[in-house]
Amino acid sequence: MELNGAVALVTGGSRGIGKAIAEALAEGGARVAVVGRNPDRARETAASLPGQGHAGFGADVADPAAVSDLVGSVEKEVGPIAILVNNAGVTRDNLLMRLKDDEWDDVMDTNLRGAFHTMRAVSRGMMKRRAGRIINITSVIGIIGNKGQANYAASKAGLIGLTKSAAKELGSRGVLVNAVAPGYIETDMTAGLPEDARETLQSQIPLERLGRPEDIAPLVRFLAGPGAGYITGQVLPVDGGMVM
Ligand code: NDP
Repeated sequence: MELNGAVALVTGGSRGIGKAIAEALAEGGARVAVVGRNPDRARETAASLPGQGHAGFGADVADPAAVSDLVGSVEKEVGPIAILVNNAGVTRDNLLMRLKDDEWDDVMDTNLRGAFHTMRAVSRGMMKRRAGRIINITSVIGIIGNKGQANYAASKAGLIGLTKSAAKELGSRGVLVNAVAPGYIETDMTAGLPEDARETLQSQIPLERLGRPEDIAPLVRFLAGPGAGYITGQVLPVDGGMVM
């Protein structure tokens, strides 16, 4: 129970990768604030976590006012935030030529601007306490790009720049900032992948399978814990060897 009652805020913690992360942090002894746009699902997930003191919150991270309210509510109801996991993310795929402004904006607002707002809101408290862990869930697509995902790739590449800059700014105050870059993981986000695309993908992965949310969560738990005290500014892929 290395996380010892520390408060963790996990955006997009109600389903998929975020839910597995919330579970792993709870198993490590954290009190987890689970966030999603759907408040009922966030509360349901929080109630299902092992241990005590978890809570679910409904908030759209793309809305700056909602993020500010969220951080205030979590600090009041659960406690000072020691661990922030920016996991909420969306895709709105289209070829660059056809990409609409709202498809660009939606993806950037959730995946990148949302992370900026949560980081800005929690970093003051973390710096004061001279301790904090921020873990941003980017994607291998932010490193290698992808046809039909210019908006998503740009948001995830932006998240890498945000991670490294924050790591440089906050390191001297004991706040460590890292990014985890999953490959293709079986969740609602990838459920619509056609069978032939799935097979092609699988053939490009040395471990010959798509990932599962449980493949990502242990690394996040490690990065949040005492064993990762000398790791900051890194982008760690968890992708079955897809990108190397
Ligand atoms: P899912 O679509 O399965 O889950 C997304 C989660 O984020 C849900 O809990 C959803 O809850 C929440 N969410 C979405 N938008 C917002 C928002 N604006 N504000 C608050 N919460 C939001 O996604 P995955 O689990 O697959 O992905 C999680 C993260 O991992 C994302 O950042 C994704 O980009 C990244 N990733 C995923 C990969 C994959 O192959 N699946 C690969 C690489 C990276 P609700 O709907 O209630 O808001």
